[in-house]
Amino acid sequence: MAIYELVKPEIRSIAPYVPGKSIAEIAEKYNLESDSIIKLGSNENPLGPSPAAVSALQEAAATVNIYPSADARELVDAISAYVGMPQANIVASGPGMDGLLDGLMRMLMSADSEVVVTTPTFSYYEISATACGAKPVFVKRNENFDVDIDRVIAAVNENTKVVFICSPNNPTGNITAEKELRRLLDSVECLVFVDEAYVEFAGSDIASLVGEYDNLVVGRTFSKAFGLAGLRLGYGIMPAWLKVEYMKAATPFNVSAPAVAAGIAALSDREHLEASQQMVIDGREYLQANLPFKVYGSQANFMLVDVAPNSAKDVCDHLLRRGIIVRDCTSFRDAGDSFIRVTVGTEEQNARIVEGFSTYL
Ligand SMILES: *Cc1c(COP(=O)(O)O)cnc(C)c1O
Repeated sequence: MAIYELVKPEIRSIAPYVPGKSIAEIAEKYNLESDSIIKLGSNENPLGPSPAAVSALQEAAATVNIYPSADARELVDAISAYVGMPQANIVASGPGMDGLLDGLMRMLMSADSEVVVTTPTFSYYEISATACGAKPVFVKRNENFDVDIDRVIAAVNENTKVVFICSPNNPTGNITAEKELRRLLDSVECLVFVDEAYVEFAGSDIASLVGEYDNLVVGRTFSKAFGLAGLRLGYGIMPAWLKVEYMKAATPFNVSAPAVAAGIAALSDREHLEASQQMVIDGREYLQANLPFKVYGSQANFMLVDVAPNSAKDVCDHLLRRGIIVRDCTSFRDAGDSFIRVTVGTEEQNARIVEGFSTYL
């Protein structure tokens, strides 16, 4: 037996994750000054973290010799107040919402399990389910990237454990309407995981539906609107029966004490949140009006740009040479090769994006 065969075949079958590019990587490759580069490829908050969260982190540093509470209770209380749902329905998770996905897959998936993934979408659903032995079944979104709920329902069978719906969807920016989600929740017996990573930029959310359905889980993160991507903090809103089981399987102390402190502070800093939301609302309008390609409507902090008949790779190379990092979506399953995802930046950054795309033509 070759030594690498010690690794489960389902892990070996996974294609390596393609992350957004980093500033250091691009500075070196194109011989640019690091501080001239703008990073708009990973949907981070260009305003930075909330100053209140930074202070809380500094303060928490003095006591990191002590374990945090096992269930991050103080943070769960703050999240409960923020989302308007009882503590019994909230779990805090690390690392990030990705940690929540991993925890759920670990407790739900076995060799004959299936999950339904609506493509193109966030790639970690497929990866975490596959790593736990499950088979991902793909249902492609329609030409406007809306989910065809009837096709999703038809793809569910007795082995299906979870349907993943990202809303607003990464990388397309559109939401799935509550009416459609209700139809899905009413029609299937498996769990429906609705990923609301970008909910603070959308006009609606479905957290309260967790009180009505025993098969709905909502995933959230502090990485996007709250500007804490480097801290790796997320949370889930789920039925109480599922939280009880989840807590049995979750990694103990998976949310660090500094993350607990920073999360609470970030939730209390409404000024920073509102400034971040307003920047995105203004930026979306500007990019929609000024980018010289087809731009899809977005309820998130990024825009999907279709550069056809050009290739996304060529346009991204042109932008990178100018110190602008955006996300080539070619690696997203079922996305084709002409889509680019651009994080909404500050006014100044957005002007550079428009100039970068315009000079390609
Ligand atoms: C960024 C992102 C996440 C991951 O969030 P983390 O909390 O940073 O792990 C989850 N889902 C979607 C759709 C995302 O874009």
